[in-house]
Amino acid sequence: MSFLKLLIAVSFSLPAFSRTLGAESDSGTKGPAYSELVKYFATLPQKYPEFIQVSQYGKTPGGRPLVVLKVSYPKRFVNPRVVSSRAQTLAILITGTTHGDEYLGIEDRLPEWFAKEGVKDPAIAPYFQAGGAIYLIPIFNPDGYDTRRRENSRGKDLNRDFSIRQAKFEGFTEVETQAARDMLINQLQVNQQRLLISMDYHCCIGAALYPWSFAKAPELPGDYLALYKAYGKIMQNNFGADFRVGKTPDVLGYSAIGTSKDYYYENYGSMSFTFEGEYGIEKNKFAQHIQMWKNLIQYGQLTRGILRR
Ligand SMILES: [Zn+2]
Repeated sequence: MSFLKLLIAVSFSLPAFSRTLGAESDSGTKGPAYSELVKYFATLPQKYPEFIQVSQYGKTPGGRPLVVLKVSYPKRFVNPRVVSSRAQTLAILITGTTHGDEYLGIEDRLPEWFAKEGVKDPAIAPYFQAGGAIYLIPIFNPDGYDTRRRENSRGKDLNRDFSIRQAKFEGFTEVETQAARDMLINQLQVNQQRLLISMDYHCCIGAALYPWSFAKAPELPGDYLALYKAYGKIMQNNFGADFRVGKTPDVLGYSAIGTSKDYYYENYGSMSFTFEGEYGIEKNKFAQHIQMWKNLIQYGQLTRGILRR
């Protein structure tokens, strides 16, 4: 135990310039062992049995369970009038640590906050009342997370492994991406939900990125672009004027093919982002993340009519 504490102390005392500036790099935040997180997630349904479910949707090549948490209201709390007036209820997908070394210390705390506070928060409760659900995969890449590597244990970058028709790119070569894709398709179908927002937490640019990520991509339709910018403005309001919002090539200066946000946008017409936290300090901004989610969920419900598909 004391050795672990020493390790943490050493990793925290590393000077900031030891990382490559400008490159997507280690987040500077170390989380607990994945097995500890899995144990913690398993306690949540006992604490909040009405509001949260945890399930395993697959297993990594390294033998670690792939875990998703779902926060929603039990049927008797859902307003049947609201639900029957709409063909589909809404779903939100929050994923973190897709790059194993980009854990922020935010993604694993969100499920309990939503189950404990979010379900009764005046800004979010109407979303749940209308049958909405939030799916959370705090650690999308458990093998990479435990070994502090960007890639999975087969050396594949999972945020370059989503199929993008528009770019004629075939992904889903990896178990982690395949299993998450199938889990989401199944949940949305069984629960008659449509995806409203997806947010994939990364590090360390301090930005929100929206589609498209790949080179020579078409412009988004005007109404979508306006909506993405409005979502971006909400995030900027929470994270400050230095927080950048835009397409990957515009903000990062490079293009990327096979990213999660392009996949979710293309297949679900959702508002899909890569969230880039800040090196070493994102974990201190939990309150701002909560406020962002309150604002996004409220705004998302109001503007859901703009989304197609
Ligand atoms: Zn990343």
